Amino acid sequence: MKFIADMHTHTIASGHAYSTIAENCAAAAKRGHTHIVMADHAPSMPGAPHLIYFMASAPKYVEGIRVIKGAEANVLGENGELDLPEIALKRLEYVIASMHEPCWNPGKDKEAVTRAWLKVIENPYVDCLGHVGNGNYPFDMDTVIRKCAEKGKIIEINNHSFEVRRGSDVNCREVARLCVKYGVNIVVSSDAHYKDEVGVFDHSIALLEELGVPEELVLNADVDRLKRYFLDRKGIEV
Ligand SMILES: [Zn+2]
Ligand SMILES: [Zn+2]
Repeated sequence: MKFIADMHTHTIASGHAYSTIAENCAAAAKRGHTHIVMADHAPSMPGAPHLIYFMASAPKYVEGIRVIKGAEANVLGENGELDLPEIALKRLEYVIASMHEPCWNPGKDKEAVTRAWLKVIENPYVDCLGHVGNGNYPFDMDTVIRKCAEKGKIIEINNHSFEVRRGSDVNCREVARLCVKYGVNIVVSSDAHYKDEVGVFDHSIALLEELGVPEELVLNADVDRLKRYFLDRKGIEV
């Protein structure tokens, strides 16, 4: 598989990342990518930018790379509430919903996490569930992934998780297997917090290869497939 976009990257705006959008795009161009998702942390993460950042317009093209303006929203509780209001969510081109310890920590309560994901999946503005393999947030994988298939949500296989989130390799393997079983779209992403990490997917790719994940499920392995997703689901050209 050849990849054309990194679907989860951070810039210095996130408060704990170290490159600008220009540096990230230059790195993406060097890797032969055409697109990048800029998904800075939404406001309840310590150090994250103000809501206004997610409502302002951003450059569409930087260094020849199409910048897909996104956010990594935080799940705040078991009702699936996010820390971005609808007025911001509807202006964004791509919304990842993730669980982060500083924003919500249900103490490995599997039922609470499952309930939260099921609610998040009902949110029409959410495109992708972020790093679900995090061992601190166990959930009923079969139920949640099946519902992703029903609602057309994307699951990311986050390369960074294999290094920093305990339990991720085992959990990601099971999640990816269920995505294949139920036909759920997958993206691979770096979750880069520095330019050199943009487009680094080696752990994620190894997992997809090991499981024989069909390429048709991997949205960012083909530019036409990626464009079709955004046109069909969101009515936007990327
Ligand atoms: Zn971060
Ligand atoms: Zn995250």
